[in-house]
Amino acid sequence: MAQESILVIGGGISGLTTALEAAEAGFDVVLVEKNPYLGGRVAQLNKYFPKLCPPVCGLELNYRRLKENNRITFYTLSQVEKISGQEGAYDVSITVNPRFVNDRCVACDACAQACPAERPDDFNFGMNKSKAAYLPFDQAYPQLYVIDGKYCKGDCRKACQAACKYEAVDLTMKPRTVNVRASAIVVATGWNPYEVAKADNLGMGRVKNVVTNMMMERLAAANGPTGGKILRPSDGQAPKKVAFVQCAGSRDENHLPYCSYICCLASLKQTAYLKEQYPNAEAEIFYIDIRTPGKYEKFYWKVRDMAGVKLTKGKVAKVEQARGSDDVAVTYEDIFSGKKVEKKFDMVVLAAGMEPANRAKPVLEGITYTPEGLIVPSSLKPGIYAVGTAKSPLDVARSMQDATGAALKSIQALAGRR
Ligand SMILES: Cc1cc2nc3c(=O)[nH]c(=O)nc-3n(C[C@H](O)[C@H](O)[C@H](O)COP(=O)(O)OP(=O)(O)OC[C@H]3O[C@@H](n4cnc5c(N)ncnc54)[C@H](O)[C@@H]3O)c2cc1C
Repeated sequence: MAQESILVIGGGISGLTTALEAAEAGFDVVLVEKNPYLGGRVAQLNKYFPKLCPPVCGLELNYRRLKENNRITFYTLSQVEKISGQEGAYDVSITVNPRFVNDRCVACDACAQACPAERPDDFNFGMNKSKAAYLPFDQAYPQLYVIDGKYCKGDCRKACQAACKYEAVDLTMKPRTVNVRASAIVVATGWNPYEVAKADNLGMGRVKNVVTNMMMERLAAANGPTGGKILRPSDGQAPKKVAFVQCAGSRDENHLPYCSYICCLASLKQTAYLKEQYPNAEAEIFYIDIRTPGKYEKFYWKVRDMAGVKLTKGKVAKVEQARGSDDVAVTYEDIFSGKKVEKKFDMVVLAAGMEPANRAKPVLEGITYTPEGLIVPSSLKPGIYAVGTAKSPLDVARSMQDATGAALKSIQALAGRR
């Protein structure tokens, strides 16, 4: 185990960036990730702006850098239990949970084929099921299957173990503890989609063809639940008319009071997905203000000017099941006319905001969080830094800039000690 390393908590694009930048500068890094794979939310996107390339392009590059650098030790399915000490000498205790599959796995799928148990596929927001022995997604890194202990009941008499020719399945694995001495700590725990069902006027979970923006990313992704075809959930039909509802839980004192920064761009991007698949489809984006910071303005102009795309300044008051059909009725107040209007759509996409991932159970004690759970950087102890969306809603480019800065700060903490 690396003595005197930099500890990075969270293996999304922010944490990966900090880890790689520090390791490539010659410093040891321990990276702790709670999921069975690295890459965070970016891995779930279909394409990402500004270039609209598939996330695997960027992530793949980072995975390669990681494979080529033996200064990074990473633990998946892991969480930090305890941190004590001070800058230059933090003692950290990490719990590594069992994957039930060891490094001999060649990702051949035999265990999944033999496994009779199913689980909701959380990578696809429960829109499909996977086996309890599963690969989180086709390009997952590490390329190792995992067995979900919650759904594997063992009454199949270890069918997965019998099916594995490589002796990679080990159902006796137990949680273990790893202790690390860290000179600096970088918290890169990211975000979760805001639970829009809490805004009960927006129909999430009640109205059949209402999905969130992250579900839309998965519907459009070739490795998603519909093989990349945007289909409405109730009947698998191609949607002809789609509404995008902005600020679903953001800029709202009853939910997230802040702007989630990327939701307008995400809806514009998803409008482009829709038009790419169905050139004759119509999209209407209901917004309070359209926010496309900096150079993203051009992308806004491009999508706004597409045929069949309408942007309506209006606050959505209600999203309901249309009477007698699977369609969705959207009631909004048109800001310019001051009138209340109801329109029907095949499908509605709620632009759910970004909420800090550890709102319910913060990773660090003794520091200040905003009421919504965002880390207040000035309250961090010396040698501890917060990066990316753990601090504020951000896009990938800005998360990476922030993460690179934290790598430098952490190196200073470690180099100063040497
Ligand atoms: C609908 C939508 C579309 C988007 N599209 C784009 C786009 O096209 N382009 C773009 O630039 N941005 C886009 N974004 C924003 C982008 O997803 C974020 O900028 C990016 O995910 C930030 O990365 P991160 O590493 O800070 O957080 P995350 O991606 O959330 O990664 C955090 C990681 O930390 C892990 N973690 C959390 N808690 C713990 C813990 N306690 N212990 C260990 N690990 C933990 C998580 O499992 C995760 O792997 C979009 C966002 C949304 C909502």
